[in-house]
Amino acid sequence: MKSFNVPSFYRSPLISKLKLHYKTQDPHRKIKQPFILNTETCAIVIARHFGFCYGVENAIDIAFKALHEHPGKSIYLLSEMIHNPQVNSDLRQRGVQFLNDTQGNPLIPLQTLKSDDVIIIPAFGASLEVLSAINALQLQVHTYDATCPFVERVWNRAEKLATSQHTILIHGTFNHEETRATFSRAVIQNTPVLVIRTPEEAAYLAECIKHNADDGEFKTRFTGRYSPGFEPSRDLTRIGVINQTTMLASETQHIADIIKSALEIRYGSEALKLHFAETRDTLCYATNENQEAVLELRNVCPDMVFVIGGYNSSNTSHLVEICESVCPTFFIEHSDCIQKTQIHHYNLHKKNIENSMWPHLPQYPKIAFTSGASCPDAVFEDVVFKVAQHFNLNANQVTTYFNAL
Ligand code: SF4
Repeated sequence: MKSFNVPSFYRSPLISKLKLHYKTQDPHRKIKQPFILNTETCAIVIARHFGFCYGVENAIDIAFKALHEHPGKSIYLLSEMIHNPQVNSDLRQRGVQFLNDTQGNPLIPLQTLKSDDVIIIPAFGASLEVLSAINALQLQVHTYDATCPFVERVWNRAEKLATSQHTILIHGTFNHEETRATFSRAVIQNTPVLVIRTPEEAAYLAECIKHNADDGEFKTRFTGRYSPGFEPSRDLTRIGVINQTTMLASETQHIADIIKSALEIRYGSEALKLHFAETRDTLCYATNENQEAVLELRNVCPDMVFVIGGYNSSNTSHLVEICESVCPTFFIEHSDCIQKTQIHHYNLHKKNIENSMWPHLPQYPKIAFTSGASCPDAVFEDVVFKVAQHFNLNANQVTTYFNAL
């Protein structure tokens, strides 16, 4: 895989060593079992795959290149570069300004832009509406496109589904930058498009499909999430499902199965091929690998797990959901969240930050760690050191254990 120029302050010697060890031991990345370091006081369990993915490294490389190549110029990101607070804050400190927030609300009016300014399209891509609004200003701006190729692959899949005259169902969160970008590209293909978030919504659509009608609630349920003129009785007859690259794999599969089975009931097995496009999910490799790696944690039965990443990061949130089915899970952004008696963490369900006591642990606990695709390894390392301290191990001792690899 291509390597990128990522600033060394995002790297961690310890984690680089571990990843190099993995690479040598398993060049084709087939192994999913976690790495277990048995120290004197606890077992440190590290998910096999975690941290910066291809698209994030590419985006960081491009953003820092833009800064290097245009000193003194105004540099604007269309929205957050990636969903990681440290990386976004580093870019802000270096003078990069954000035109929109993650929901697409303007932070700086586009009219502020001038010719010769620099624009960076983030890893999620940008919606065509935003790009056309910038083009309409007719300015000579320098543009750096950090759109992840795995996101572009989803756009290509949408185009193919439109060519084969399928309605496109996008499994994603509508206010996520990537889903808005995908939606805008699907809509211009002149095919009906609908964004759905949950299996419950898929079950509702299944009823519409089976009865060839909706109960009048469709437009309220999906306000703002369908293409103009979408008509359930006409547009739910021939369907293909794609997804935001960072969704929960099992959920996308569940949604596709619900829709497929409804179409089968309506049209019969013989005709199913005409009505349902058998597409593999459009999750990216990093989402798949990271989710499979945390599923493997179940076999180790950890006593607690730390999931590190931005609280608005979709891929990290799904790792949290999987881990929660395994053991007490703490979603944290950085090492300061670890306190002597408490853990400062994000509750995904209540959508708030809470302080929890450390859970009751056995005498020799197994403490697991993973992180989202936008979390720097340096942050991961800091968390491992801070947690190790809680178990009376200092950074040197932990490093010695890693050096024995
Ligand atoms: S998580 Fe996947 S789609 Fe998103 S930036 Fe990383 S590789 Fe690209």
